[in-house]
Amino acid sequence: MTRSVQSLVFRVTLGVLFLLLTGALFRLQVLKGEYYGRIAESNFVRIRRVVATRGEIYDSKYRPIVSNIPSHDLFLTSGRIGNTERLAVFLKAHFGIEPEELRKLVFEQRFKTYEEILLADNLPYEMILALSERMGDFPELTFRSGTTRSYMYPNHFTGYVGRIDEKEYSRYREEDYSLNAYIGKTGLESYYEVLLRGRDGKEIMQVDAQGKSLELFSENTSVPPQNGLSLILSIDNDLQEYANSVFPPGIKGCVIVSDVKTGGILAYLSKPDYDPNIFMQKISTEVWAGLNTPSKPLMDRIIHATYPPGSVFKTVTGSKGLETGVIDRYTRLASCRGGLKIGNRFFRCWSAAGHGSLNIVDAHRVSCDVFFYDLISKMDLDAVAAHARACGVVEKTGIDLPNERSGFYPDKQYYRDKLGVTSGLNGYKANLAIGQGEVLTTPLQMNTHYAAIARGGMWMQPHLLLQTMGSSRITRDQLQPLNKHPLPWSASTVQTIRDGLWAVTNAPGGTARAISVSGATSYGKTGSAQNYMGSVTHAWFCGFIETDKPEIVVTVFMENAGGGGAMAAPVANKIFNYYIGNLEKIRQPAPIPPQFRTREERTTAPPEPAAAPEETPEPQPEPAPEAPAEVPDEESGR
Ligand SMILES: [Zn+2]
Repeated sequence: MTRSVQSLVFRVTLGVLFLLLTGALFRLQVLKGEYYGRIAESNFVRIRRVVATRGEIYDSKYRPIVSNIPSHDLFLTSGRIGNTERLAVFLKAHFGIEPEELRKLVFEQRFKTYEEILLADNLPYEMILALSERMGDFPELTFRSGTTRSYMYPNHFTGYVGRIDEKEYSRYREEDYSLNAYIGKTGLESYYEVLLRGRDGKEIMQVDAQGKSLELFSENTSVPPQNGLSLILSIDNDLQEYANSVFPPGIKGCVIVSDVKTGGILAYLSKPDYDPNIFMQKISTEVWAGLNTPSKPLMDRIIHATYPPGSVFKTVTGSKGLETGVIDRYTRLASCRGGLKIGNRFFRCWSAAGHGSLNIVDAHRVSCDVFFYDLISKMDLDAVAAHARACGVVEKTGIDLPNERSGFYPDKQYYRDKLGVTSGLNGYKANLAIGQGEVLTTPLQMNTHYAAIARGGMWMQPHLLLQTMGSSRITRDQLQPLNKHPLPWSASTVQTIRDGLWAVTNAPGGTARAISVSGATSYGKTGSAQNYMGSVTHAWFCGFIETDKPEIVVTVFMENAGGGGAMAAPVANKIFNYYIGNLEKIRQPAPIPPQFRTREERTTAPPEPAAAPEETPEPQPEPAPEAPAEVPDEESGR
């Protein structure tokens, strides 16, 4: 995550955290500050960190995607080390910890010799049993049970957590991380770190000279941890699994299914993928080598890669033609005879036989390149570039994931700076018109663009988070209002482009006749994009379906897989049909599971599905000492 995004998330969630923490912190720092300060100075007092339970991640029906599971960890208290040499031998033999690593850890802890350092995590239980007898020789070592993350399926959106590294530790020092802390490294685990993490508590013990607890303070000596919030995503695990099952094995690419109405992502599949669980243990060199192959399984092809969009981009060029008045829906442009001569170069149409002279609806239907070559030659490049940005296919979409990439659409300045070309841009423009040349987009940008068309011309920020659960319920929109803006398209432009997309999947000669969904009306566009990665084109399909209302937008992208109509559209068709075949099940909201119900929801008879966020009581200015109001109730039951 870039620093700016990270700090944005911190800013956004500051208000939330403030609400969560007011009670505990106020009590600790303001009322009891002096008291705790005094006892902490004493040599006979130890403050132990009570680690907050990290929030879990669920799909829209509260089915787990990321869970906490028990783990066995090994800790070292450096102040109690008897024989460093003997310890080093023991740790190297059983845990693979190098003596140098141990020396470094001990040195770093030299001012906190009473604090435990996490030496090794997620140890097999058999190992603990086997070593338990030897542990008497090493009073400085302690096994403790904690929790670790379990990821339900390979994916690119959850990300994973890992031990905090030195850079992160110094960056977030004020955020109260310990050196033993876990922190979200990528994906949602990183983006929503502030929400997921919660706040560690403290336990204060008075001890004798041997370090035994005296339990002199029986009351008011600890601050309970504030557990992290759980995330409820718009992802539908069934749809995600189905998309995974119909994506052809061995092909690199991605599938995005999003909800037209809300902009929520229902399925987010990038292939090849990886299992985030491998990062929960020390990674072997073999596993690491498997992740660093040319097929790049760690790369999220939905937002971390840009590709030439090819013909799925024709809606952008076409809508600009309609908006500028260069054409209307009936205007026929240059006749396609397998291509068009521009300057002294012949630009081919994908069909060598040619399409003749077409209007914009038919140009979409058969995906004639010549129509768009001719169209863009009548328009100003900078105007089209600005239009592309307004269509949502250049700038980052703002999805709630780190490190999203921008797309690219050149303007005149670009050609002046990069190529020294000041006139005669028609050849370059011809390529841009059909989504080739310098145009690059992420698959997610294309998905949001088609979602905007499905919505009648309203662009909306895509997102994965629906709302949080736990000690407070915050919807994605409450966390940070979702961006939406109308496309610069008149109603008649929207209608004309939609007619073109309808013809693609329904009319004779349409390039996506593979799409056939009974019970819904389908729209779409295929693309077969030439690229530098190989002689075979990238296959694209972007489209949507409607019943009595708009339903879902599907984007299928396949690297060097061939034609969009032959390769990508059939996958989208399966997903459309699966969705319509399971419409009632997918639409049906699930009841809130017991661990997330408020006291009120538990006592009032039939639990209603999550509606409005609950009314959380205002934080009381007067801190109540035994104030586990509803937090512990909601956080139980893991
Ligand atoms: Zn043509």
